[in-house]
Amino acid sequence: MDNGIFLCSISNVSSGNCSEDCGYCAQSSHYHTGIEKYKFKDMQAVLNEARTLKQYGALGFCLVTAGRGLDDKKCEYIAKTAKMIKDDGLDLHIIACCGRADTDSLKYLKQNGVDSYNHNLETAKDFFPKICTTHPWKERFETCENALSAGLGLCSGGIFGLGESWGDRIELLKSLQILSPHSVPVNFFIKNPALPIVQNTLEPEEALECVVLAREFLPKARLMIAGGREVVFGREQKALFECGINAVVLGDYLTTKGDAPQRDVDMIRSYGLEIATSCH
Ligand code: SF4
Repeated sequence: MDNGIFLCSISNVSSGNCSEDCGYCAQSSHYHTGIEKYKFKDMQAVLNEARTLKQYGALGFCLVTAGRGLDDKKCEYIAKTAKMIKDDGLDLHIIACCGRADTDSLKYLKQNGVDSYNHNLETAKDFFPKICTTHPWKERFETCENALSAGLGLCSGGIFGLGESWGDRIELLKSLQILSPHSVPVNFFIKNPALPIVQNTLEPEEALECVVLAREFLPKARLMIAGGREVVFGREQKALFECGINAVVLGDYLTTKGDAPQRDVDMIRSYGLEIATSCH
């Protein structure tokens, strides 16, 4: 197994106007967050992004669409884009992230070059209704099961700092244990006055405790630090890796800018860590 830090990048291929009311998400149409909204980014532009991120060492590339679920149009677009990237010979692990999805649609994505599906449980089952009223947590869990049934790799994690208790955090991690995803994104909520969740962004100490707990519950998973990394930790991120992080989202996030990819790669290497060169 490659013990280096796995780099994964994201392309928000269809942004905003989501019917759902997830209180932590800037893409919900229920809140006025001022994000850029568009449908189906030009495929050539997505391919160019994939080529660029690959040059920085990204091994994973995730195609994300906003919205509750994977409809026929999105399915076709993702399948075509994934195939285009694979046909380009980029040798990237392609992940799709399109919300609720049935097993047949997910099998179709797999046939067209998608390797994994990302669908986060986000938080504990019992806490979820406090942050989202338009769809049930159960639907999220079922989609994760569908991804596994379709033979896709599963990437599923959550977001910390929504006002959940430590008990809720443990419940989330127990649910993830059942699914046993190969990759687990760890996000930290960033306070945004346009969103209904009023929690302050976590202090680094508490965020690190969340990472330690996640590593304890999911010892074999690729634990990937995602949204909130820069806001919570600034450029002092070494402790994240000491607490069990072994994967990083490189480049921009869905609606916010990340640090320059080369700067992040240099930072990781300055901690004496290698960058992974293989998905296995
Ligand atoms: S369903 Fe996804 S895109 Fe829509 S508001 Fe919730 S997290 Fe955001």
